[in-house]
Amino acid sequence: MVLERGDVANSWRRERWDSLRLLTPNWQTRLPGYRYEGADPDGFMTMAEVIEFVSNFAVKAAAPVRTHTAVTSVRQTDDGYQVATHDGDLRCRSLVLASGACNVPNVPPLQQGLPASIECLTPFDYRNPDQLPEGGVLIVGASATGVQLADEIHRSGRPVTLSVGEHVRLPRTYRGRDVLWWMDASGMWNQRYDEIDDLTRARRLPSPQLIGTRERTTLDLNALSAAGVELVGRLAAVRNGRALFSGGLCNQFALADLKMDRLLDTFDDWARTHSRGAGVNPPERFEPTRVPASSRLHLDLASGEIRSVIWATGFRPDYSWLDVPVVDRKGHLRHDGGVVDAPGLYAIGLPVLRRRKSTFIHGAEDDARDLIDHLACYLANTTVRQRG
Ligand SMILES: Cc1cc2nc3c(=O)[nH]c(=O)nc-3n(C[C@H](O)[C@H](O)[C@H](O)COP(=O)(O)OP(=O)(O)OC[C@H]3O[C@@H](n4cnc5c(N)ncnc54)[C@H](O)[C@@H]3O)c2cc1C
Repeated sequence: MVLERGDVANSWRRERWDSLRLLTPNWQTRLPGYRYEGADPDGFMTMAEVIEFVSNFAVKAAAPVRTHTAVTSVRQTDDGYQVATHDGDLRCRSLVLASGACNVPNVPPLQQGLPASIECLTPFDYRNPDQLPEGGVLIVGASATGVQLADEIHRSGRPVTLSVGEHVRLPRTYRGRDVLWWMDASGMWNQRYDEIDDLTRARRLPSPQLIGTRERTTLDLNALSAAGVELVGRLAAVRNGRALFSGGLCNQFALADLKMDRLLDTFDDWARTHSRGAGVNPPERFEPTRVPASSRLHLDLASGEIRSVIWATGFRPDYSWLDVPVVDRKGHLRHDGGVVDAPGLYAIGLPVLRRRKSTFIHGAEDDARDLIDHLACYLANTTVRQRG
């Protein structure tokens, strides 16, 4: 049984802004036995299309979904789990946590220092620029969400200041192909969790600076600053109504450029040795991220220059309803490739759960197959023990 607190595809219905399109191309949007088959494989789905895609999959798979059934607590019992919902209790021997990796926007505690005159939004509150007061907007965070919102809000005519911390720079296309084609073809997406040197770091990497547009636009910091978005360093503190930014912009840029170049080197190496890499354009390298001649280290938030702040500082899962001691002090679930540290308990859909692609729609299939094998063995073994 699948329990869902909203409707099927709830996160896509309720927690995304109006103009969002997937950053993964249509050809890559697939679920087990179900894939995009429209006329635009290189396009990027709108939210309405994603909702339709996931809903159609649920029908095709005949998934036994109980919608509008929020789980309020899960407790361990002698032979499995007791699941409390708004619609009564259930018991099960095995349970999969598929409640998502992005349930709550991460807002740093320094929000409390902002003057009351500033309107604060998270990506869950934001729908479109019309909702913002006239005047300047400070966007904190320059990963996929931050760069996309900076672009849209700047186009609405508002001055945008973008606070940039650690980020992952990627071109939309490389050597004539979508950069995610390269991730797929070169095997990067499929890299397994137990082959990654620093798994903790890999699981916390910010999302890449990508946007899905018809024109296949690259939306990196050079594009944003050329359009007129002001770049400042990481937001380090808010003191006496002033935002203080770190001075390490130059280093942040150099690091992101270096990592992008290393990834492109990996793609080039792969193309040299694999037949699928034949016929692509020659290797290219991109202009380093331009460091502004002078970047502001502080901003007076009480002056009226900035009227709203958007926290594009990432998301985290919510396990407040999980009364099983498997979440560490930092809120991370203790699991080994989705096999959670409690009998018969599994997780899916978390970053680099079993592969680099685990947190993306197309990553679900391979992870689900592995976990179902484990789960089926678990159920078979416990049945034998109970009978014995
Ligand atoms: C802004 C944004 C953009 C993204 N863009 C892309 C993209 O371009 N391409 C891509 O492949 N991926 C993208 N992702 C990642 C994408 O969200 C995941 O690939 C996908 O949603 C994972 O599906 P899921 O079912 O594991 O999690 P979710 O889609 O989060 O689904 C979890 C479900 O669990 C339900 N739930 C949670 N708690 C409870 C509870 N207590 N009781 C009952 N139900 C509960 C929720 O209502 C939700 O419907 C994006 C994510 C975000 C946040």
